[in-house]
Amino acid sequence: MMHQLYPQVWHDYRYELNKDMHIAAAHFIPHEAAGSCANVHGHTYIVNVTVAGDELDESGFLVNFQTLKQLVHRKLDHTLLNDHSDWFDGHDPNRFPTSEVVARTIYETIQRYLDTLPHKPKCLQVFVRETPTSYVVYRPKAGER
Ligand SMILES: [Zn+2]
Repeated sequence: MMHQLYPQVWHDYRYELNKDMHIAAAHFIPHEAAGSCANVHGHTYIVNVTVAGDELDESGFLVNFQTLKQLVHRKLDHTLLNDHSDWFDGHDPNRFPTSEVVARTIYETIQRYLDTLPHKPKCLQVFVRETPTSYVVYRPKAGER
């Protein structure tokens, strides 16, 4: 099991939870600026999701770790990311499955789920490491959380 430190996000919530996921997946970026990344290739993505809130649910969870895993890992692991047209519409450059877009889409998916919970937890940060030397962090703007 790999342990690593993640960038911290400042907040004033009482509880903070972090969920790590390893996702083996392929992708390609169909744009001339992508160079060799226009070819199909794979990564073992390391994803860290940060959720915070002031209240717990009736079972004492801020959010169930397993649910976070189901929302992201079950959908993306061992897939071609470009195949998820409901997540990544490959005609819109803002929807090519770059690490930035993967991080943002994971945020959107998780926050959409959290919005259904009565105690209203918030996703504050999604960290996506694509390679040992490259990672992206997505955080909602202050007015969005
Ligand atoms: Zn890549």
